Formats: sequence, C-alpha cells, structure tokens
Amino acid sequence: MKIALIAHDKKKTDLVQFSTAYKTILEQHELFATGTTGLRISEATGLQIHRFQSGPLGGDQEIGAMIAKNQMDMVIFFRDPLTAQPHEPDVSALIRLCDVYCVPLATNMGTAEVLIHGLEKGFISWREIIRDRQEESK
Ligand code: PGA
Repeated sequence: MKIALIAHDKKKTDLVQFSTAYKTILEQHELFATGTTGLRISEATGLQIHRFQSGPLGGDQEIGAMIAKNQMDMVIFFRDPLTAQPHEPDVSALIRLCDVYCVPLATNMGTAEVLIHGLEKGFISWREIIRDRQEESK
C-alpha cells in the first residue's frame, strides 16, 4: 500500500512517535511524506520515505496529485486545528480529494490508530482491487 504521512509543525512530534510505535507495520508499505515531516520521521525511525516538497511549498498538492490518479491508498495527516496555516487551501483540497477517491484518511492520532490496525488486518485490501480495475481500464 502507498501511505502518505503529513503533520503540521505542532503535530510533528506526535507523528514521529506514532511512526516509531508502528514502524514494523509501516516498513511493509511504500511511504510518502511532505518534506519536513518525512525528514523528521526518517531521521527518527530509519524508515524509507519518498519526500515531496514541504507542505507550504506544494507538498500537499503533490500528494493530492497522487490521490487524483488513485495512486495513494491511505493518508495520515496530523492537522493542527488551532493554528492558521498559510497553505490552508491546499490542506482543504487534499482532504477533499480523499473524499472524492474514497481514500482512508486520519486527521488525528485516534483515527490513525484505528487505520493502522485496520491496515495490518487487511481491511484496506479493497484498495488493491480498485487499482487493478483502474489498470485494466487503461
Ligand atoms: P512539512 O509540510 O512536512 O513540509 O512541514 C506539512 C504541512 O504543513 O502541510
């Protein structure tokens, strides 16, 4: 599965801790992240992560582009609901695209826990069927 990891600045430590706790699950998948989030996680955990631009410089949009091509299977995005973000439109667009393409999305630790356990148990395997169908229709 292709998994995107994103955290706003005040939530980055939480996502690093989450990634550390679930490293053994995450390392079985293809990981993507916005620039700074990806750097923090890979430094702390050693996980291999494809890093896009930093969020405010377009990283959220790059991840959004993968979602729009149905190439992303899960998004873990620890948002900071208490701080204004300069790239708020990009954040909203990313979340909207997850809804358009039925991509499982966690915007806080509570939901991320449920998603990661679901991932481990295979509850998200239906994403593979969608991708296979998409390949066939090309
Ligand atoms: P960052 O971007 O990982 O580069 O900080 C995250 C964001 O703010 O969208």
